[in-house]
Amino acid sequence: MGTMLFRSLHHRENPRGHPVLVALLRGFCYQALYWWRQGVEPEEPVHPHVLALDHISQGKRLGDVLREAGFSREFIAQEVGRYLNAVDQFRGQHTGIPAPETTPFFARVFRGIGPQGRFGMDRAAEVIGGWEHFYEYIRTHAFLFEDWATSMHMEPEKVRVEQQMVTIMSTAQRTPVYVPVWVWTDGHNVTVGILYQSPADLLLADLVQFFGRSDALPLPFPVWIMYPDRAEPHTPVLNSNALTALIRMSGTIPAQPPYPWPEGMYTGQCRVCGFRSLCWEAQKKPRTMFLFRDIEVDTGR
Ligand code: SF4
Repeated sequence: MGTMLFRSLHHRENPRGHPVLVALLRGFCYQALYWWRQGVEPEEPVHPHVLALDHISQGKRLGDVLREAGFSREFIAQEVGRYLNAVDQFRGQHTGIPAPETTPFFARVFRGIGPQGRFGMDRAAEVIGGWEHFYEYIRTHAFLFEDWATSMHMEPEKVRVEQQMVTIMSTAQRTPVYVPVWVWTDGHNVTVGILYQSPADLLLADLVQFFGRSDALPLPFPVWIMYPDRAEPHTPVLNSNALTALIRMSGTIPAQPPYPWPEGMYTGQCRVCGFRSLCWEAQKKPRTMFLFRDIEVDTGR
């Protein structure tokens, strides 16, 4: 969920204590729910898939984005071209695996840009999420977007994608809540795509499938999960009764910060969390202190 969850938290018509948001936050991370209930405004986490989809939905091509960001022509031709060729060749050699470049074996055939190659390009890299996301952003534009479209049985040349708000309205609550989804169209078919960033995205997909409403979209929504290597039609995890019960239960809010909270680290959710600065960066403490906060540790600072 990550980025899309935090976009829905920022929607001005979504009440802070709404049971659907509480259920989504609880599913994402209990500590995140605690911060939210404390009135903290989260940041919007940067994610290369979301950034690339934002740019693609605005009609921007990869070359245009890179040039506008400030990458030189030589850099694009040499470094970006080198990466695109490597992925293309690797895919040709491993046709039975979806997106084989996401496997660890790709690192054996492709070496990323070193510090010298990055010289003078840091500002440009920031536009596409920083060096940390550089290759994944390019891969999303050049390969993954097409993978998603073909998985959804759409022609990549004709497909259009845009972010739209879907209203979630169940019998368990009186006020609606708005969540952003990616809507794919190719002139004939319309599908709703949910980006997979954490297991809690499957809960969002269930909610959209059973309780989603939109004036602009035909019902029922075909919901697809967009994974980092393919898209798959969503198979509901819960039925509508279980979802309704879950939303009702979500009225109970944690009064104390959960303790300890290592789960975000295990699952990688902290990387797509808008409260990361509170949990990790602002504390400037060793992680052991965060996990075992009742133990006094002399950090020497
Ligand atoms: S940074 Fe990690 S532990 Fe903190 S709220 Fe986010 S996901 Fe949870």
